[in-house]
Amino acid sequence: MDNQDKNSRPAVMERVRLLTRAMGHRPLACVRTYGCQQNVADSERISGMLSCMGYDFTDRTEEADLVLFNTCAVREHAELKVFGNVGALKGLKAARPDMLIILCGCMMQQETVQQQIRSKYTHVDIVFGPSMIPELPSMMEEALITRNRVFTRRERPEIAEDLPIVRESAHKAWVTVMYGCNNFCTYCIVPYVRGRERSRASAEILKEVQELVRSGYRDITLLGQNVNSYGKDLEGEMDFSDLLAAIDRMDGDFWIRFTTSHPKDCSRKLLDTMAASRKICHQLQLPFQSGSDVILKAMNRHYTAEDYYGLIEYARRVMPDVVVTSDVIVGFPGETEKDFQRTLDLIEKVRFDNLYTFLYSKRTGTRAAAAENQIDEEVKKERFNRLLAAQHPICLAKNKEMEGRDYTVYVESVSKNNPECLSGKTSGGKTIDFPGDAALIGQFCKVTVTRAKSWSLDGRLKECQHD
Ligand code: SF4
Repeated sequence: MDNQDKNSRPAVMERVRLLTRAMGHRPLACVRTYGCQQNVADSERISGMLSCMGYDFTDRTEEADLVLFNTCAVREHAELKVFGNVGALKGLKAARPDMLIILCGCMMQQETVQQQIRSKYTHVDIVFGPSMIPELPSMMEEALITRNRVFTRRERPEIAEDLPIVRESAHKAWVTVMYGCNNFCTYCIVPYVRGRERSRASAEILKEVQELVRSGYRDITLLGQNVNSYGKDLEGEMDFSDLLAAIDRMDGDFWIRFTTSHPKDCSRKLLDTMAASRKICHQLQLPFQSGSDVILKAMNRHYTAEDYYGLIEYARRVMPDVVVTSDVIVGFPGETEKDFQRTLDLIEKVRFDNLYTFLYSKRTGTRAAAAENQIDEEVKKERFNRLLAAQHPICLAKNKEMEGRDYTVYVESVSKNNPECLSGKTSGGKTIDFPGDAALIGQFCKVTVTRAKSWSLDGRLKECQHD
C-alpha cells in the first residue's frame, strides 16, 4: 500500500474500525444536531462515516462511546445551550475516560469558542469547523492512538464527494449544492465560519438526485446558504435555474424544493423556471429582513423594499399558487420606529403565508455587533410582539383561503399533533394533517382541507394518487 492509499479515507476508517473493535462490543455513537438544515445534511455525512467505522447509533449520551455535537453559531441562545450540554458530559467522561467527545459545526470555527473549550471543557477530545468534516476519521484516529486532544480551525477548501451518508429519513432527502457564502450581511456570522462560496459540480448533484429518486425518495430539497448564486464560482458551470431545469427533466415521480434564496440573486429566470416545471415545488422562502431601505443598506443586503416587492409580484404573476415565506429581523442597530413601521407596511403589502421572526442578536466578529446604535431590549421585544400581532391574522386568512380546496400532498409521517393522523406537505410547503393509514407514508395523495387554523391545517383524504 503506498502512502496515498494508506491515507485515503477508506483506509483510515478501516483502521479506526479496528481500533474501536478493541472495546469488545459494537460501539455506540450519539450524534446531536443544532441549527439549520445544512447542519442536518452535514450530520448525515458524519453518521455515514461513523457507520463505516463500525458505530451503531443511540439517542442516549449515557450509553454512547462517542458523543458528537454538530453546533450552530447563528444565535447566542443556541451557543449557550451547547455550552450547557457539553458541561453536562463531564461526569460521563470522568466515569468512562475511553469515550470520545467531539464538537464540530459553525460555532467551533470561532477562535474564542475554541479557546474556551480548550481551557474550561477539558473533557472534550476533538474540535473542528464545518469544512473539516471529511477529516473526521483521521482526527479520531489521532485522538484514539495518542489520547491527545485534537483542535483545528483549518479550512478545507475542496469539496469531498465520496463521503458515505446515513440519511435521517427514508422518504425526504437533503442535497447540498453549495457551501459557504460571499455576502457578508453585517449581522451574520456564516461567511466567517463556513467560508466563501463553493459549488459542487452539477454532474455530482444530478448523480446524487438520480440515485435518490431511484431509491424511492420523492421529496428532495436542494440546500445552500445562497442557492441562487450556485455555479458562479465554477467556470463553465450551469446556473441555479438551469440546474433546477435539468433535475426537472429527470424521469421519476418526485418533487424538488430549495432553500435559501437571497433577493438580490433571485432572478426572473429562476421564477420562470419554477413556473414552467412539473417537479419544482411552488414554494419560495425569500428572506426580506427589513422593510426599510436604510436598514437594508446597513445590513448590506443590496436590494430595496421596492425591489423585493417587485420580485414577489412577479413570482405571483407567473405562479398564482406560490406560497411565499420569509425571514425578518427586529431591532437591528439603528432601527427607528419609522424603519420598523416600513417593515410592518411590507408585511401588510406582501401578505406572507408565514414569517420566521427574529430578534436581532449580536454575533461577535460581525460589523453590526460593533455598531454603537444598538436597540434597547425592551424596544426590540415590544416591536417583536407588534410584528407577531400583524402577521398572525394574515397567516390565518391565508390558511382559510385553502378551506374546501383539494391539494396534492407528499405524505411525510405520522402527525406530531395526533397519532391517529398523517402529515402531508403541499407543493407550497404547507403541512396538512389528515386521518389515514401509515402505509401511505412516502406517497402522493390528494387531500381536501376541512379546517384551517393560524398555524395548522386539517384535511380529509380524497384519493391516493400513486400506489
Ligand atoms: S446571505 Fe447573508 S444572511 Fe445569508 S448566509 Fe450569507 S451572509 Fe448570512
